[in-house]
Amino acid sequence: MGRPNGRQPDRERQPGRGRPSIRQPNREAADAMDIVVSSLKKTWILDLDGTLLKHNGYLRGGDALLDGAKEFMDRISGDAIVLLTARSEALRERTVDFLLESGIRFDHIIFGMPVGERILINDAKPSGMTTALAFCKERDAPVPYSVVEDPRI
Ligand SMILES: [Mg+2]
Repeated sequence: MGRPNGRQPDRERQPGRGRPSIRQPNREAADAMDIVVSSLKKTWILDLDGTLLKHNGYLRGGDALLDGAKEFMDRISGDAIVLLTARSEALRERTVDFLLESGIRFDHIIFGMPVGERILINDAKPSGMTTALAFCKERDAPVPYSVVEDPRI
């Protein structure tokens, strides 16, 4: 049965009915997000400053991992990990030393990247699997992501 003139039945106009709650217990929960991926081996490309590390912490007393960064990196440690940073090559040794001392595993780290957008392009698999995902997190916020493997992907 249609809805003449686009009018909604009264029961759907009751405030709050049928709508998800916009209340969140705290900001961290509001930002939490599952990254749903296949069970194939994957490639992760991550930024450092503001993403895994306190933004430009090396200029303000020393580098520091953001909350959740170690746990997230441990979760993906079986995959290929490429770190990209706009930090100069002059900061390579101290940056790599900090990451290794912090137990952050990676396969490659590339210094001197531009500060603009990072764009990933990949071809879809014939199965329809999406092969390029991107996430833009809040600078210096805890790493909010959980990784969920879905064998149906
Ligand atoms: Mg950054």
